[in-house]
Amino acid sequence: MADDDGAVNNTVPPAAKRACTEKIKVLVTGGTGLVGRALESHVISDPQPNEEWIFLSSKDGDLRDMAQARRVFELHRPTHVAHLAAMVGGLFKNMKYKLDFLRENLLMNDCVLECCREFGVSRCVSCLSTCIFPDKTTYPIDETMIHNGPPHDSNFGYAYAKRLIDIQNRAYHEQYGCMFTSVIPTNIFGPHDNFNLQDSHVIPGLIHKCYIAKQKDEPLTVLGTGSPLRQFIYSKDLARLSLWVLREYHEIDPIILSVGEEDEVSIREVALMINKAMGMKQGIQFDGSKSDGQLKKTASNSKLRKYLPDFKFTPIQQAIDETVQWFCENYDTARK
Ligand code: NAP
Ligand code: GDP
Repeated sequence: MADDDGAVNNTVPPAAKRACTEKIKVLVTGGTGLVGRALESHVISDPQPNEEWIFLSSKDGDLRDMAQARRVFELHRPTHVAHLAAMVGGLFKNMKYKLDFLRENLLMNDCVLECCREFGVSRCVSCLSTCIFPDKTTYPIDETMIHNGPPHDSNFGYAYAKRLIDIQNRAYHEQYGCMFTSVIPTNIFGPHDNFNLQDSHVIPGLIHKCYIAKQKDEPLTVLGTGSPLRQFIYSKDLARLSLWVLREYHEIDPIILSVGEEDEVSIREVALMINKAMGMKQGIQFDGSKSDGQLKKTASNSKLRKYLPDFKFTPIQQAIDETVQWFCENYDTARK
């Protein structure tokens, strides 16, 4: 698979150049998911003698349950935590399971953050999402606006659970001095994604549908009108940025990890890029009876740019090409 060294590695200082020699043990919850797998590949490609990494799956312990979460922390005694574990899904899964999204994520976040406090974890980075921002807002949205109004109705369960991480981080800091923070990625995609036809996010869902449509020589059916706008981030870019956050970002307040506003694309454009990557001869068609969800959630990456002005994101067509190639090569074992 074409990889992504070069420019990006030149713009996030390699850990080897840091003066830090302190031993750290990083526990990654959700280590078997889309982001966890990308982070694992990146860490393996740049191993640091002072760092030990543990990537957890739900089989290592159900993090909704405090007793199981404590057993995991007792076993590993981490100094740092990257908290990625969550109940995750695209628009249509969010619309169906609002209470489950709320409860599962509230429970998981509460257990993980409280274990971080109990076990003296010195840094915890949790994952929020740009889909938790207020629905009625001005654009671009920035980190200061998370709590400025209700989220879009389609995903309020997930959104309120995720918003509370930011509140918990502030409270843990003010009451106990804990250094817990969060990142706010946009819509993520890449190898090891969930390619389920009903429950996934739009890119993996359309990749799987396109694979099937190509075999049947039919057009790709895109749900909704295709006009909503999204900023997408490739999981490999997010892995690099998340590693930088864990090592170098020392604020409690969250940071948006996103491509710029100028790189926002419509769902229609994304579908065409997937068709191109798949070498589809048939075009696309729209099922306008299905929901469009939030029309846009344009986020500003100016805070990120202040820290990393030269970071280069993988061009979206290249990232989609790589993801399609990965899916086709791993069709039998891919999550779907
Ligand atoms: P994912 O691929 O669905 O992976 C979820 C991970 O969480 C898996 O490792 C899963 O373990 C683990 N997990 C789920 N329930 C668990 C439980 N009860 N106990 C312990 N572990 C559990 O998710 P992702 O897309 O990598 O998302 C990572 C983070 O980014 C999440 O916090 C998500 O909210 C956030 N985010 C995602 C997107 C996106 O577009 N995907 C966008 C913005 C933010 P198993 O593999 O064992 O099931
Ligand atoms: P969101 O970005 O949080 O809204 O979540 P998604 O990644 O699920 O993207 C939803 C957007 O993609 C909506 O505008 C949907 O109408 C559109 N879309 C088009 N086809 C699909 C599909 O097959 N699956 C999903 N999840 N969304 C689709």
